[in-house]
Parts: sequence; C-alpha cells; structure tokens
Amino acid sequence: WEDLSQRVDQHTNYVQMAATIAHEVRNPMTSVRGFLQLLSSQITGDTHRKYLDVMTTEIDRMNTILSEYLSMARTPQPEWEPIHLTELVRDTFMLLEGEANYRGVNLSLELAEDCHIRGIARELKQVLINLVRNAFDALEGGEGLIHLRLQNEQGHYLLTVTDNGVGIAPEQLTRIFEPFFTTKAMGTGLGLPVCKKIIESHGGSLYVQSELGAGTTFTIKVPQFFQ
Ligand code: ADP
Repeated sequence: WEDLSQRVDQHTNYVQMAATIAHEVRNPMTSVRGFLQLLSSQITGDTHRKYLDVMTTEIDRMNTILSEYLSMARTPQPEWEPIHLTELVRDTFMLLEGEANYRGVNLSLELAEDCHIRGIARELKQVLINLVRNAFDALEGGEGLIHLRLQNEQGHYLLTVTDNGVGIAPEQLTRIFEPFFTTKAMGTGLGLPVCKKIIESHGGSLYVQSELGAGTTFTIKVPQFFQ
C-alpha cells in the first residue's frame, strides 16, 4: 500500500507539473494565433491564406488538447450549485441538434421531468457533449441513431447516451477510460477520462456497455438532490 500511495503521490506531482506547463504554453499560443489571423486578413494569395488557416486550425487543436488535460489535472472545487438536470439535458440536446442534422444523424431525446441535482452545470454539459460527439464519431454509413435518455430511479438519476455505431471490442472496453487511449487518428484519448473524473466528482459513476457492430451505451448515474 505504501508503495502504491507513493506512486500515486508521484503521479499527482507529474500531473500538476504538466498542468502548469500546459497553462504556461497557452499564452504564447494565443498570441501566435492572433498574429496568424492578422496575417491571414492582410495576405492576398489563396495558397498562403490556406497555409495560415491550417496553422490556425492546428493551434486550435493544441488548445483543445491542453484544455482537456487541464480539466483532468484540476483540483475539484466545492462550488456546487443546484442544477435542473432535465433543463440541462434539454439545452445540451438542442445545442447538438444542429451538428446531428448536419451529419445526417437521428438524435432523439427522452426526458423524465423535474430532475434536480447539485454540481457544476458547465462540467456536466461538457460530459454530455463529449459522449454525444464520441457517438457521432462511432457512426458510419447506414442510419445513425443516438438516443439520450434521462430516467428518474429511486435515489438517483440515470442518463444514458446510446448509439448504433461500430461498438467497442472487449479488449478495448477495459482501456477506454485510460488517459491517452484512443483509436482515432486525431483523438486525444482524454475525453472519457475527463468525463469519468467529472461524474465521480459529482458523487456519481460513469459506465459503458458495448457490442461490436451493434452499438454502445454510456450510462451516467448521479445522486438525486432535493432542496
Ligand atoms: P478520443 O475521442 O479522443 O479518442 P475518448 O477518451 O473520448 O478519446 O475515447 C477513447 C476511445 O473510446 C475512442 O478513441 C474510441 O475508440 C472509444 N469510444 C468512445 N466512445 C465510443 C462510442 N460511442 N462508440 C465506439 N467507440 C467509442
């Protein structure tokens, strides 16, 4: 146990150090991005503008990686607020509807009314968006279906995101919550570990069921809260 706790401590130090570096690197990146945009607005040649756009996109990608890393390394703050979970899920659904339409995906919603929890709304929205975006990525060909469902159980709520996408192989299923595990060419492998950390910091749990070739369901279980 001692050895294990030492390793955990050491890991925490590394995570903190990496988080500091991530944070520091962001500022110069923002200024580089600003100058790239300035150049892009002044340049006349199409090819050169294209290069500059690629550079801006890549900077944005670096920023996403850093943000995800930072939210994983951050220490939880007890700044909980009452959240109307039904509304939060509905709002997030509406936010994603446009992207679903654009991708030709049938995104559907089934909500239990008047669900209330405590937590950080922004973080919970981020989890839901991550799960649905992963589901978008898992759909290929055929009719893509994603179903969001919020259920009121005894003492807790279940929020599920189900897709009929490619599914996850059993040997990968045990690894998807590991930081940096990804099967995507442009993936960061940080989406799910961040989701898991956020849900656990809300006193809940996040788990997955999947069948290769049939689809995947992620389930968020969070405790109810009555005012
Ligand atoms: P990333 O999306 O950057 O790869 P994640 O941590 O969000 O990072 O996901 C890790 C991996 O889990 C993905 O690369 C993918 O292989 C798998 N995965 C996540 N969600 C799904 C899903 N809905 N269907 C199939 N595979 C999934």
